[in-house]
Amino acid sequence: MATAASLPEFQATALDTIPGIASTVRGTFRTHKTKKLQWRQMQLRKLYWALEDYQPQLLAALKQDLHKSSFEALLTELDWVKKDCLFMLDHLEKFAKDEKLGAPHVPVTFSLMKFRIRKEPVGAVLIIGPYNFPVQLLLAPLVGAIGAGCTVVLKPSELTPATAAVIKEMLEKRLDTTALAVVNGGIPQTNALMNEKWDKIFFTGSAAVGTIIAKKAAETLTPVVLELGGKNPAFISKHANLALAARRLMWGKTMNAGQVCLSHNYVLVDKDVVPTFIEFLKQAYREMFPNGAKASPDLGRIVNQRHFHRLKKMLDDTKGKIVLGGSMDESENFIEPTVVLVDSVDDSMMQEESFGPIFSIYPVNSLDEALNVANRVHRTPLALFSFGSKAENQRVLNEMTSGGATLNDSFFHGSLNTVPFGGVGDSGWGAYRGKASFDCFTHFRTVSQTPWWAEKLIDVRYMPFDMAKLRR
Ligand code: NAD
Repeated sequence: MATAASLPEFQATALDTIPGIASTVRGTFRTHKTKKLQWRQMQLRKLYWALEDYQPQLLAALKQDLHKSSFEALLTELDWVKKDCLFMLDHLEKFAKDEKLGAPHVPVTFSLMKFRIRKEPVGAVLIIGPYNFPVQLLLAPLVGAIGAGCTVVLKPSELTPATAAVIKEMLEKRLDTTALAVVNGGIPQTNALMNEKWDKIFFTGSAAVGTIIAKKAAETLTPVVLELGGKNPAFISKHANLALAARRLMWGKTMNAGQVCLSHNYVLVDKDVVPTFIEFLKQAYREMFPNGAKASPDLGRIVNQRHFHRLKKMLDDTKGKIVLGGSMDESENFIEPTVVLVDSVDDSMMQEESFGPIFSIYPVNSLDEALNVANRVHRTPLALFSFGSKAENQRVLNEMTSGGATLNDSFFHGSLNTVPFGGVGDSGWGAYRGKASFDCFTHFRTVSQTPWWAEKLIDVRYMPFDMAKLRR
Protein backbone atom coordinates (compact mmCIF):
# COMPACT_ATOMS: atom_id res chain seq x y z
CA MET A 1 0.00 0.00 0.00
CA ALA A 2 1.29 3.47 -0.89
CA THR A 3 1.67 5.80 2.09
CA ALA A 4 0.06 9.18 2.50
CA ALA A 5 3.49 10.76 2.21
CA SER A 6 4.08 9.23 -1.21
CA LEU A 7 0.86 10.62 -2.69
CA PRO A 8 1.02 13.64 -5.00
CA GLU A 9 -0.04 16.93 -3.47
CA PHE A 10 -3.45 18.40 -4.33
CA GLN A 11 -3.06 21.68 -6.13
CA ALA A 12 -5.93 23.79 -7.34
CA THR A 13 -5.52 24.61 -11.03
CA ALA A 14 -4.64 28.28 -11.58
CA LEU A 15 -7.76 30.08 -12.79
CA ASP A 16 -5.97 31.96 -15.56
CA THR A 17 -4.87 28.67 -17.17
CA ILE A 18 -8.41 27.31 -17.53
CA PRO A 19 -9.34 29.12 -20.79
CA GLY A 20 -6.14 27.72 -22.34
CA ILE A 21 -6.94 24.18 -21.17
CA ALA A 22 -10.44 24.39 -22.63
CA SER A 23 -9.08 25.83 -25.86
CA THR A 24 -6.56 22.98 -26.19
CA VAL A 25 -9.18 20.23 -25.95
CA ARG A 26 -11.53 22.12 -28.27
CA GLY A 27 -8.68 22.54 -30.75
CA THR A 28 -7.74 18.87 -30.53
CA PHE A 29 -11.32 17.88 -31.29
CA ARG A 30 -11.13 19.92 -34.49
CA THR A 31 -8.08 17.91 -35.63
CA HIS A 32 -10.41 14.89 -35.83
CA LYS A 33 -7.80 12.59 -34.30
CA THR A 34 -10.07 11.50 -31.45
CA LYS A 35 -12.63 10.27 -33.98
CA LYS A 36 -10.30 7.51 -35.10
CA LEU A 37 -11.26 4.18 -33.58
CA GLN A 38 -7.61 3.30 -32.96
CA TRP A 39 -7.10 6.44 -30.88
CA ARG A 40 -10.14 5.67 -28.73
CA GLN A 41 -9.13 2.04 -28.24
CA MET A 42 -5.59 3.02 -27.31
CA GLN A 43 -6.79 5.57 -24.72
CA LEU A 44 -9.17 3.03 -23.18
CA ARG A 45 -6.37 0.45 -22.94
CA LYS A 46 -4.10 3.07 -21.38
CA LEU A 47 -6.78 3.99 -18.88
CA TYR A 48 -7.21 0.34 -17.94
CA TRP A 49 -3.47 -0.12 -17.34
CA ALA A 50 -3.15 3.22 -15.54
CA LEU A 51 -5.79 2.04 -13.06
CA GLU A 52 -3.90 -1.21 -12.65
CA ASP A 53 -0.55 0.52 -12.08
CA TYR A 54 -1.89 3.31 -9.87
CA GLN A 55 -3.92 0.94 -7.71
CA PRO A 56 -1.75 1.35 -4.58
CA GLN A 57 -1.88 5.17 -4.78
CA LEU A 58 -5.63 5.22 -5.48
CA LEU A 59 -6.38 2.85 -2.61
CA ALA A 60 -4.26 4.94 -0.25
CA ALA A 61 -5.91 8.15 -1.44
CA LEU A 62 -9.43 6.74 -1.00
CA LYS A 63 -8.46 5.59 2.46
CA GLN A 64 -7.18 9.05 3.29
CA ASP A 65 -10.18 10.91 1.87
CA LEU A 66 -13.06 8.66 2.94
CA HIS A 67 -11.55 5.95 5.11
CA LYS A 68 -12.71 3.68 2.29
CA SER A 69 -11.70 0.04 2.74
CA SER A 70 -9.65 -1.53 -0.05
CA PHE A 71 -12.42 -4.11 -0.52
CA GLU A 72 -15.02 -1.43 -1.28
CA ALA A 73 -12.57 0.69 -3.22
CA LEU A 74 -11.74 -2.17 -5.57
CA LEU A 75 -15.32 -3.38 -5.92
CA THR A 76 -17.02 -0.03 -6.46
CA GLU A 77 -14.29 2.18 -7.87
CA LEU A 78 -11.17 0.73 -9.51
CA ASP A 79 -12.43 -2.64 -10.76
CA TRP A 80 -15.68 -0.99 -11.75
CA VAL A 81 -13.97 1.41 -14.15
CA LYS A 82 -11.63 -1.29 -15.44
CA LYS A 83 -14.67 -3.42 -16.30
CA ASP A 84 -16.15 -0.39 -18.05
CA CYS A 85 -12.99 -0.05 -20.15
CA LEU A 86 -13.14 -3.74 -21.14
CA PHE A 87 -16.85 -3.55 -21.96
CA MET A 88 -16.32 -0.48 -24.13
CA LEU A 89 -13.31 -2.05 -25.86
CA ASP A 90 -15.27 -5.24 -26.56
CA HIS A 91 -18.22 -3.44 -28.13
CA LEU A 92 -16.77 -0.21 -29.50
CA GLU A 93 -16.52 -1.24 -33.14
CA LYS A 94 -20.15 -2.31 -33.17
CA PHE A 95 -21.34 0.82 -31.30
CA ALA A 96 -19.41 3.18 -33.56
CA LYS A 97 -20.43 1.61 -36.85
CA ASP A 98 -22.84 3.45 -39.13
CA GLU A 99 -26.35 2.01 -39.01
CA LYS A 100 -27.77 1.45 -42.46
CA LEU A 101 -31.49 2.10 -42.47
CA GLY A 102 -34.07 0.06 -44.33
CA ALA A 103 -37.61 -1.09 -43.56
CA PRO A 104 -39.48 -0.28 -41.38
CA HIS A 105 -37.68 3.06 -40.99
CA VAL A 106 -37.50 3.73 -44.72
CA PRO A 107 -40.75 3.35 -46.72
CA VAL A 108 -40.70 1.53 -50.04
CA THR A 109 -41.15 4.82 -51.87
CA PHE A 110 -37.77 5.98 -50.50
CA SER A 111 -36.01 2.66 -50.91
CA LEU A 112 -33.80 3.97 -53.71
CA MET A 113 -32.25 6.52 -51.37
CA LYS A 114 -29.53 5.51 -48.98
CA PHE A 115 -30.25 6.32 -45.35
CA ARG A 116 -27.87 5.75 -42.47
CA ILE A 117 -27.15 6.98 -38.96
CA ARG A 118 -23.59 8.10 -38.32
CA LYS A 119 -22.36 7.92 -34.72
CA GLU A 120 -20.46 11.14 -34.19
CA PRO A 121 -18.75 12.37 -31.01
CA VAL A 122 -20.56 15.42 -29.63
CA GLY A 123 -17.27 17.31 -29.29
CA ALA A 124 -15.34 18.75 -26.35
CA VAL A 125 -17.08 17.84 -23.10
CA LEU A 126 -16.83 18.76 -19.43
CA ILE A 127 -17.30 16.08 -16.76
CA ILE A 128 -17.84 17.26 -13.17
CA GLY A 129 -17.64 14.64 -10.42
CA PRO A 130 -18.89 14.33 -6.81
CA TYR A 131 -16.94 13.20 -3.75
CA ASN A 132 -18.60 9.94 -2.75
CA PHE A 133 -17.19 7.65 -5.46
CA PRO A 134 -14.47 9.99 -6.66
CA VAL A 135 -12.92 7.46 -9.04
CA GLN A 136 -15.95 5.69 -10.44
CA LEU A 137 -18.24 8.68 -10.90
CA LEU A 138 -15.56 10.69 -12.70
CA LEU A 139 -13.93 7.99 -14.80
CA ALA A 140 -16.98 5.89 -15.80
CA PRO A 141 -18.39 8.85 -17.78
CA LEU A 142 -14.86 9.37 -19.15
CA VAL A 143 -14.94 5.84 -20.60
CA GLY A 144 -18.14 6.78 -22.47
CA ALA A 145 -16.66 10.07 -23.67
CA ILE A 146 -13.45 8.44 -24.94
CA GLY A 147 -15.46 5.61 -26.52
CA ALA A 148 -17.58 8.14 -28.37
CA GLY A 149 -14.46 10.03 -29.56
CA CYS A 150 -14.83 13.23 -27.53
CA THR A 151 -12.14 15.37 -25.99
CA VAL A 152 -12.61 15.90 -22.28
CA VAL A 153 -11.90 18.10 -19.31
CA LEU A 154 -12.51 16.42 -15.95
CA LYS A 155 -13.25 18.31 -12.74
CA PRO A 156 -12.94 15.97 -9.73
CA SER A 157 -14.46 16.88 -6.38
CA GLU A 158 -12.19 19.00 -4.19
CA LEU A 159 -13.68 17.29 -1.12
CA THR A 160 -11.57 14.21 -1.86
CA PRO A 161 -8.29 15.99 -2.62
CA ALA A 162 -5.93 13.01 -2.29
CA THR A 163 -7.90 11.05 -4.88
CA ALA A 164 -8.21 14.09 -7.15
CA ALA A 165 -4.43 14.59 -7.06
CA VAL A 166 -3.71 10.94 -7.93
CA ILE A 167 -6.25 11.01 -10.76
CA LYS A 168 -4.67 14.13 -12.21
CA GLU A 169 -1.16 12.71 -12.09
CA MET A 170 -2.31 9.32 -13.44
CA LEU A 171 -4.24 10.69 -16.40
CA GLU A 172 -1.69 13.34 -17.31
CA LYS A 173 1.14 10.81 -17.26
CA ARG A 174 -0.71 8.08 -19.13
CA LEU A 175 -3.32 9.54 -21.47
CA ASP A 176 -3.17 11.92 -24.43
CA THR A 177 -3.00 15.32 -22.72
CA THR A 178 -3.88 17.21 -25.86
CA ALA A 179 -7.32 15.63 -25.70
CA LEU A 180 -7.87 14.95 -21.99
CA ALA A 181 -7.20 17.30 -19.08
CA VAL A 182 -7.92 17.43 -15.37
CA VAL A 183 -8.78 20.70 -13.62
CA ASN A 184 -8.60 20.52 -9.86
CA GLY A 185 -10.33 22.88 -7.46
CA GLY A 186 -13.70 23.93 -6.14
CA ILE A 187 -16.32 26.52 -7.01
CA PRO A 188 -13.96 29.10 -8.63
CA GLN A 189 -12.48 26.45 -10.95
CA THR A 190 -15.95 25.07 -11.80
CA ASN A 191 -17.19 28.58 -12.51
CA ALA A 192 -14.19 29.27 -14.75
CA LEU A 193 -14.89 26.03 -16.61
CA MET A 194 -18.56 26.93 -16.93
CA ASN A 195 -17.55 30.21 -18.60
CA GLU A 196 -16.11 28.16 -21.47
CA LYS A 197 -18.16 26.78 -24.34
CA TRP A 198 -18.65 22.99 -24.20
CA ASP A 199 -20.49 20.64 -26.50
CA LYS A 200 -21.91 18.76 -23.53
CA ILE A 201 -21.63 18.90 -19.74
CA PHE A 202 -21.93 15.76 -17.65
CA PHE A 203 -22.57 16.60 -14.00
CA THR A 204 -22.91 14.26 -11.03
CA GLY A 205 -23.74 15.84 -7.69
CA SER A 206 -26.44 17.53 -5.68
CA ALA A 207 -29.69 18.91 -7.06
CA ALA A 208 -28.74 22.37 -5.74
CA VAL A 209 -25.48 22.53 -7.72
CA GLY A 210 -27.10 20.72 -10.67
CA THR A 211 -29.55 23.62 -10.88
CA ILE A 212 -26.68 26.13 -10.99
CA ILE A 213 -24.96 24.12 -13.73
CA ALA A 214 -28.15 23.70 -15.79
CA LYS A 215 -28.96 27.43 -15.56
CA LYS A 216 -25.48 28.46 -16.65
CA ALA A 217 -25.44 25.88 -19.46
CA ALA A 218 -28.80 27.16 -20.70
CA GLU A 219 -27.22 30.55 -21.45
CA THR A 220 -25.23 28.96 -24.25
CA LEU A 221 -27.76 26.19 -25.01
CA THR A 222 -25.24 23.59 -23.92
CA PRO A 223 -26.81 20.17 -23.35
CA VAL A 224 -26.35 18.75 -19.87
CA VAL A 225 -26.59 15.33 -18.32
CA LEU A 226 -27.47 15.59 -14.64
CA GLU A 227 -26.94 12.68 -12.28
CA LEU A 228 -28.45 13.96 -9.03
CA GLY A 229 -29.63 12.72 -5.68
CA GLY A 230 -32.99 12.11 -4.16
CA LYS A 231 -34.89 11.03 -1.11
CA ASN A 232 -35.18 7.34 -1.86
CA PRO A 233 -37.95 5.38 -0.13
CA ALA A 234 -38.04 1.72 0.86
CA PHE A 235 -41.39 -0.02 1.33
CA ILE A 236 -41.73 -2.94 3.75
CA SER A 237 -44.97 -4.91 3.92
CA LYS A 238 -45.89 -7.57 6.47
CA HIS A 239 -45.31 -10.15 3.71
CA ALA A 240 -41.61 -9.31 3.40
CA ASN A 241 -38.87 -11.53 4.74
CA LEU A 242 -38.13 -9.05 7.51
CA ALA A 243 -34.79 -10.52 8.57
CA LEU A 244 -33.40 -10.30 5.05
CA ALA A 245 -34.98 -6.92 4.40
CA ALA A 246 -33.26 -5.56 7.51
CA ARG A 247 -29.91 -7.10 6.58
CA ARG A 248 -30.04 -5.86 3.00
CA LEU A 249 -31.07 -2.35 3.99
CA MET A 250 -28.29 -2.28 6.58
CA TRP A 251 -25.89 -3.11 3.73
CA GLY A 252 -27.34 -0.25 1.66
CA LYS A 253 -26.68 2.24 4.48
CA THR A 254 -23.24 1.07 5.55
CA MET A 255 -21.51 0.84 2.17
CA ASN A 256 -19.42 4.00 1.84
CA ALA A 257 -20.94 5.03 5.21
CA GLY A 258 -24.28 5.59 3.46
CA GLN A 259 -22.76 8.24 1.17
CA VAL A 260 -24.44 6.63 -1.82
CA CYS A 261 -26.91 8.51 -4.01
CA LEU A 262 -28.97 5.32 -4.31
CA SER A 263 -29.26 4.43 -0.64
CA HIS A 264 -32.62 4.73 1.11
CA ASN A 265 -33.52 7.84 3.06
CA TYR A 266 -36.53 6.45 4.87
CA VAL A 267 -38.38 3.17 5.21
CA LEU A 268 -42.17 2.93 5.17
CA VAL A 269 -42.95 -0.09 7.31
CA ASP A 270 -46.31 -1.76 7.91
CA LYS A 271 -47.02 -0.74 11.52
CA ASP A 272 -47.76 -4.34 12.57
CA VAL A 273 -44.18 -5.39 11.87
CA VAL A 274 -42.25 -2.31 12.99
CA PRO A 275 -40.98 -3.81 16.30
CA THR A 276 -39.85 -7.03 14.59
CA PHE A 277 -38.17 -5.11 11.80
CA ILE A 278 -36.25 -2.99 14.33
CA GLU A 279 -35.11 -6.16 16.13
CA PHE A 280 -33.84 -7.57 12.84
CA LEU A 281 -32.00 -4.31 12.11
CA LYS A 282 -30.26 -4.61 15.49
CA GLN A 283 -29.36 -8.21 14.70
CA ALA A 284 -27.94 -7.25 11.30
CA TYR A 285 -25.94 -4.47 12.95
CA ARG A 286 -24.48 -6.91 15.52
CA GLU A 287 -23.53 -9.37 12.78
CA MET A 288 -21.79 -6.72 10.69
CA PHE A 289 -20.14 -4.94 13.60
CA PRO A 290 -19.46 -7.49 16.35
CA ASN A 291 -17.15 -4.99 18.08
CA GLY A 292 -19.24 -1.93 17.35
CA ALA A 293 -19.27 0.13 14.16
CA LYS A 294 -16.44 2.45 15.20
CA ALA A 295 -14.01 -0.42 15.61
CA SER A 296 -14.83 -1.85 12.19
CA PRO A 297 -12.03 -1.53 9.63
CA ASP A 298 -14.67 -1.71 6.90
CA LEU A 299 -16.91 1.25 7.70
CA GLY A 300 -16.02 4.54 6.01
CA ARG A 301 -16.16 8.01 7.53
CA ILE A 302 -18.13 11.11 6.63
CA VAL A 303 -16.12 13.06 4.08
CA ASN A 304 -15.62 16.24 6.13
CA GLN A 305 -16.79 18.30 9.11
CA ARG A 306 -19.38 20.20 7.08
CA HIS A 307 -21.16 16.98 6.11
CA PHE A 308 -20.64 15.56 9.63
CA HIS A 309 -22.45 18.60 11.07
CA ARG A 310 -25.15 18.42 8.39
CA LEU A 311 -25.95 14.85 9.48
CA LYS A 312 -25.65 15.70 13.16
CA LYS A 313 -28.15 18.53 12.66
CA MET A 314 -30.62 16.15 10.99
CA LEU A 315 -30.39 13.97 14.09
CA ASP A 316 -30.52 16.95 16.49
CA ASP A 317 -33.60 18.34 14.73
CA THR A 318 -35.59 15.11 14.57
CA LYS A 319 -38.64 14.77 16.79
CA GLY A 320 -38.32 11.00 16.37
CA LYS A 321 -36.81 8.35 18.62
CA ILE A 322 -33.40 6.82 17.96
CA VAL A 323 -33.92 3.04 17.99
CA LEU A 324 -30.45 2.01 16.82
CA GLY A 325 -27.02 3.65 16.93
CA GLY A 326 -26.81 7.38 17.52
CA SER A 327 -23.18 7.74 18.60
CA MET A 328 -20.72 9.97 16.80
CA ASP A 329 -17.16 11.21 17.09
CA GLU A 330 -16.36 14.54 15.51
CA SER A 331 -12.61 14.03 15.78
CA GLU A 332 -12.75 11.41 13.03
CA ASN A 333 -16.05 12.32 11.33
CA PHE A 334 -17.54 9.07 12.54
CA ILE A 335 -21.29 8.59 12.62
CA GLU A 336 -22.67 5.28 13.78
CA PRO A 337 -25.29 3.63 11.55
CA THR A 338 -28.43 5.13 13.07
CA VAL A 339 -32.14 4.45 12.73
CA VAL A 340 -34.82 6.89 13.90
CA LEU A 341 -38.48 6.07 14.36
CA VAL A 342 -40.51 9.09 13.19
CA ASP A 343 -44.20 9.92 13.03
CA SER A 344 -44.31 12.96 10.79
CA VAL A 345 -43.59 13.51 7.12
CA ASP A 346 -42.27 16.94 8.08
CA ASP A 347 -39.52 15.45 10.27
CA SER A 348 -35.95 16.43 9.29
CA MET A 349 -35.25 12.73 8.74
CA MET A 350 -37.94 12.61 6.03
CA GLN A 351 -37.41 15.99 4.41
CA GLU A 352 -33.66 16.06 3.79
CA GLU A 353 -31.46 13.78 1.74
CA SER A 354 -29.48 11.87 4.36
CA PHE A 355 -26.45 10.84 2.28
CA GLY A 356 -24.92 9.24 5.34
CA PRO A 357 -25.41 6.16 7.55
CA ILE A 358 -28.69 7.38 9.04
CA PHE A 359 -32.28 6.70 8.05
CA SER A 360 -35.80 6.83 9.42
CA ILE A 361 -38.64 4.36 9.85
CA TYR A 362 -42.11 5.73 9.24
CA PRO A 363 -44.90 3.32 10.29
CA VAL A 364 -47.85 3.09 7.89
CA ASN A 365 -51.30 1.48 8.09
CA SER A 366 -51.42 0.33 4.49
CA LEU A 367 -49.62 0.30 1.17
CA ASP A 368 -52.01 3.06 0.08
CA GLU A 369 -50.71 5.26 2.87
CA ALA A 370 -47.08 4.31 2.10
CA LEU A 371 -47.46 5.29 -1.56
CA ASN A 372 -49.18 8.49 -0.58
CA VAL A 373 -46.38 9.48 1.81
CA ALA A 374 -43.59 8.57 -0.63
CA ASN A 375 -45.18 10.52 -3.47
CA ARG A 376 -45.53 13.52 -1.14
CA VAL A 377 -41.93 13.39 0.10
CA HIS A 378 -40.35 13.18 -3.36
CA ARG A 379 -42.32 12.29 -6.48
CA THR A 380 -39.30 11.36 -8.62
CA PRO A 381 -36.52 9.87 -6.46
CA LEU A 382 -33.39 8.35 -7.95
CA ALA A 383 -34.29 4.91 -6.61
CA LEU A 384 -36.90 2.98 -4.65
CA PHE A 385 -36.92 -0.40 -2.96
CA SER A 386 -39.93 -2.57 -2.33
CA PHE A 387 -39.94 -5.56 0.01
CA GLY A 388 -43.28 -7.33 -0.22
CA SER A 389 -45.40 -9.87 -2.06
CA LYS A 390 -45.20 -10.03 -5.84
CA ALA A 391 -48.45 -8.08 -6.14
CA GLU A 392 -47.34 -5.44 -3.63
CA ASN A 393 -44.00 -4.95 -5.36
CA GLN A 394 -45.79 -4.60 -8.68
CA ARG A 395 -48.14 -2.00 -7.21
CA VAL A 396 -45.21 0.04 -5.92
CA LEU A 397 -43.60 -0.03 -9.36
CA ASN A 398 -46.87 0.96 -11.02
CA GLU A 399 -47.83 3.73 -8.64
CA MET A 400 -44.55 5.45 -7.98
CA THR A 401 -41.81 6.42 -10.41
CA SER A 402 -38.04 6.53 -9.77
CA GLY A 403 -34.80 6.54 -11.74
CA GLY A 404 -34.33 2.83 -11.02
CA ALA A 405 -35.81 0.29 -8.63
CA THR A 406 -34.89 -2.88 -6.78
CA LEU A 407 -37.35 -5.42 -5.44
CA ASN A 408 -36.57 -7.22 -2.17
CA ASP A 409 -33.12 -5.66 -1.85
CA SER A 410 -31.28 -2.39 -1.49
CA PHE A 411 -29.79 -0.75 -4.63
CA PHE A 412 -28.95 -3.93 -6.51
CA HIS A 413 -30.15 -2.47 -9.82
CA GLY A 414 -27.22 -0.07 -9.54
CA SER A 415 -24.72 -2.89 -9.25
CA LEU A 416 -24.63 -3.63 -12.99
CA ASN A 417 -22.28 -1.40 -14.93
CA THR A 418 -23.68 -2.42 -18.32
CA VAL A 419 -27.25 -1.15 -18.17
CA PRO A 420 -28.52 2.46 -18.30
CA PHE A 421 -28.35 4.33 -15.02
CA GLY A 422 -29.93 7.70 -14.38
CA GLY A 423 -32.62 9.64 -12.61
CA VAL A 424 -36.04 10.82 -13.67
CA GLY A 425 -37.54 14.28 -13.33
CA ASP A 426 -35.59 16.23 -10.70
CA SER A 427 -33.32 13.29 -9.75
CA GLY A 428 -31.56 13.49 -13.09
CA TRP A 429 -31.59 14.02 -16.82
CA GLY A 430 -30.10 11.42 -19.13
CA ALA A 431 -28.42 8.10 -18.43
CA TYR A 432 -25.09 6.34 -18.89
CA ARG A 433 -23.27 3.02 -18.32
CA GLY A 434 -22.76 0.26 -20.86
CA LYS A 435 -23.92 1.29 -24.33
CA ALA A 436 -25.74 4.24 -22.77
CA SER A 437 -22.31 5.72 -21.90
CA PHE A 438 -21.35 5.65 -25.57
CA ASP A 439 -24.74 7.03 -26.63
CA CYS A 440 -24.57 9.77 -24.02
CA PHE A 441 -21.56 11.38 -25.73
CA THR A 442 -22.66 10.57 -29.29
CA HIS A 443 -24.64 12.58 -31.78
CA PHE A 444 -26.83 10.29 -33.87
CA ARG A 445 -26.62 11.98 -37.23
CA THR A 446 -29.04 10.81 -39.88
CA VAL A 447 -27.59 11.07 -43.38
CA SER A 448 -29.39 10.41 -46.63
CA GLN A 449 -27.95 10.21 -50.11
CA THR A 450 -30.03 10.77 -53.21
CA PRO A 451 -28.76 9.06 -56.39
CA TRP A 452 -28.36 11.43 -59.35
CA TRP A 453 -30.15 8.97 -61.57
CA ALA A 454 -33.29 8.98 -59.38
CA GLU A 455 -34.49 12.40 -60.57
CA LYS A 456 -37.46 11.10 -62.52
CA LEU A 457 -38.69 9.21 -59.47
CA ILE A 458 -38.68 12.24 -57.17
CA ASP A 459 -39.75 15.04 -59.48
CA VAL A 460 -43.19 15.08 -57.88
CA ARG A 461 -41.81 17.42 -55.21
CA TYR A 462 -41.06 20.31 -57.56
CA MET A 463 -43.41 23.18 -58.24
CA PRO A 464 -45.70 23.58 -60.02
CA PHE A 465 -47.39 20.84 -57.97
CA ASP A 466 -49.45 18.22 -59.76
CA MET A 467 -52.01 16.35 -57.63
CA ALA A 468 -52.26 13.59 -60.21
CA LYS A 469 -48.53 12.83 -59.82
CA LEU A 470 -48.86 12.67 -55.99
CA ARG A 471 -51.49 9.95 -56.29
CA ARG A 472 -49.68 7.82 -58.86
P1 NAD B 1 -21.99 18.73 -5.01
O1 NAD B 1 -23.13 19.08 -5.87
O2 NAD B 1 -21.75 19.51 -3.78
O3 NAD B 1 -20.60 18.78 -5.84
C1 NAD B 1 -20.47 18.17 -7.10
C2 NAD B 1 -19.44 18.94 -7.91
O4 NAD B 1 -19.89 20.28 -8.12
C3 NAD B 1 -18.07 19.02 -7.27
O5 NAD B 1 -17.09 18.76 -8.26
C4 NAD B 1 -18.00 20.44 -6.76
O6 NAD B 1 -16.69 20.97 -6.81
C5 NAD B 1 -18.89 21.21 -7.71
N1 NAD B 1 -19.57 22.33 -7.04
C6 NAD B 1 -19.98 22.38 -5.74
N2 NAD B 1 -20.60 23.55 -5.50
C7 NAD B 1 -20.61 24.25 -6.65
C8 NAD B 1 -21.10 25.54 -7.03
N3 NAD B 1 -21.75 26.33 -6.17
N4 NAD B 1 -20.91 25.93 -8.31
C9 NAD B 1 -20.28 25.14 -9.19
N5 NAD B 1 -19.76 23.92 -8.88
C10 NAD B 1 -19.93 23.48 -7.63
O7 NAD B 1 -22.17 17.16 -4.68
P2 NAD B 1 -21.34 16.25 -3.68
O8 NAD B 1 -21.56 16.75 -2.30
O9 NAD B 1 -19.96 16.06 -4.18
O10 NAD B 1 -22.11 14.86 -3.87
C11 NAD B 1 -23.27 14.55 -3.15
C12 NAD B 1 -24.53 14.75 -3.97
O11 NAD B 1 -24.39 14.12 -5.23
C13 NAD B 1 -25.73 14.07 -3.31
O12 NAD B 1 -26.86 14.89 -3.49
C14 NAD B 1 -25.88 12.79 -4.10
O13 NAD B 1 -27.17 12.25 -4.08
C15 NAD B 1 -25.46 13.21 -5.47
N6 NAD B 1 -24.94 12.08 -6.25
C16 NAD B 1 -25.64 11.63 -7.32
C17 NAD B 1 -25.18 10.52 -8.03
C18 NAD B 1 -25.92 9.96 -9.21
O14 NAD B 1 -25.34 9.15 -9.93
N7 NAD B 1 -27.15 10.32 -9.45
C19 NAD B 1 -24.00 9.92 -7.65
C20 NAD B 1 -23.30 10.43 -6.56
C21 NAD B 1 -23.76 11.52 -5.87
